[in-house]
Amino acid sequence: MEKILNYINPIENLGVKKYSLQFPAIVTILIIIALEFYAYQIAKDPLSISILAIILMVGLIIYFSFREGIRGGIVTTIITIFYYFYIMYTRGYQGQQLAAGVNTTIGLGTIYFMLSVVIGWLKQTIDELIEKEANEKRRLEAILDQLPVGVITTDRQGIVTSSNRVVEKIFGTKVLIGRMADRDNPLIPSKQLKDPERTIKSPLSYSLVTGKNLNDEEFSINKSGKKETYIQVNTSVIRGKGGKIIAAAQIINDITLQKELEKRKDDFVNMASHELKTPLTSLRLYLDYLNNETKKYRDSKINKALNHIQDQTGRLQKLVNDLLDVSRLQTGKLNFTMEEFRLDQLIEETMQSLQTSSKQKLIFKTKIPATIIADRFRIYQVLTNLLTNAMKYSPAEQKIIVKIEKKSDRLHVSIQDFGIGIPRDQNKKIFERLYQVTDDNEKTFPGFGMGLYISREIIRRHKGQIWVDSEKGKGSTFYFSLPLKGININLT
Ligand code: ADP
Repeated sequence: MEKILNYINPIENLGVKKYSLQFPAIVTILIIIALEFYAYQIAKDPLSISILAIILMVGLIIYFSFREGIRGGIVTTIITIFYYFYIMYTRGYQGQQLAAGVNTTIGLGTIYFMLSVVIGWLKQTIDELIEKEANEKRRLEAILDQLPVGVITTDRQGIVTSSNRVVEKIFGTKVLIGRMADRDNPLIPSKQLKDPERTIKSPLSYSLVTGKNLNDEEFSINKSGKKETYIQVNTSVIRGKGGKIIAAAQIINDITLQKELEKRKDDFVNMASHELKTPLTSLRLYLDYLNNETKKYRDSKINKALNHIQDQTGRLQKLVNDLLDVSRLQTGKLNFTMEEFRLDQLIEETMQSLQTSSKQKLIFKTKIPATIIADRFRIYQVLTNLLTNAMKYSPAEQKIIVKIEKKSDRLHVSIQDFGIGIPRDQNKKIFERLYQVTDDNEKTFPGFGMGLYISREIIRRHKGQIWVDSEKGKGSTFYFSLPLKGININLT
């Protein structure tokens, strides 16, 4: 029954560009036969069907024009006109009655033709549009399937409207089109989403609920029996003309290989720096011994050479220590020993020890007593790094100004130089691992870009912040803030 209804329903035929001539012709003739049967056999009055014939035939013409296009409507119209003449002939119309009958048939015939053309044209235009859209969709699907990244799109309610092969490959399951992205397709474990209330179930719902984009968020997925897969996810909402959200899209990048390579590289750096540390320490000890032994030959060539070796060994040791710190940070193994101390005194000591090797004048402007609880050595490391950078990146005749300020429950330390500065667009990036500022010729200063990364992580783990205010050619001011003593901090 449902099949028959579907077949009869002209809406089901929208978008189908196969137009039949036989179907309207056969059905119209069958209906005419039925009408004639009714007139002669049931009503027993040949004239009883005239109004019924007009209404029924108009209905048929509209139906077939909408179902089979212009030609379908015209076929029905022609058969109907013949039928009207047949009625006049079989019912014995004569004289004035015949003239009126012919006139009515011509009038109705013209209306029927117009109806067939207008409705048929509408139907064919709709078919054209539907086909165009279907082709566009197919084209889009083909492009999506060729993309090297996974793509899922949803409507504004979060119901999946499309997905591609890479998504299936990454997640190992089929994405159900027409079902909710997070309820019926729980692809990314919701516990990994940074939503404390757990109301947001997937990156896609995050974008749909908040209207914000999610950029380069990393997640890991555990397919049963397989090794962990790492993915990077970007989601964004698509807005209609009035700015209302109409859909959302999610791009998923499989970064497992990249992660593995990174891990292998980190393991190598970790192992290499550990292996380098031991011989370097004993080299340093032997050098100290040699230096003591050769003190009596002060200013001799041997002594100068030894000093030179000692300097270079010191640099090597700093590099190896930085490498070790970076890999400890990566693996979460950088430990802190907390103690109470005066930050202003530590700054003073650090500046004094660096002043001897500095060509610039180091000035401590606002000395206020400030006690904090932190890892003294690690904070010293941050200060040394910021001060040596200021010395490295500014001319000799300039000064370097250090300030300390209390701001509510925090201490702000600033280190200002009047050197080469950092382009504004790189002010944030310089704190990333191994990042170095490049000039217009893509040249960098000697260094490895580890110092600021280590400093940022140390400060972050003390629940503080580090940032820079700098412009190219206008010097830089580096800031870091730390909680004052009495403010509880939990190191993680
Ligand atoms: P390194 O100095 O060893 O390259 P850092 O992490 O300490 O590594 O610094 C990263 C980059 O930031 C440096 O390469 C340099 O380009 C830039 N930078 C850091 N401090 C300053 C400064 N005071 N003035 C100008 N540029 C700086």
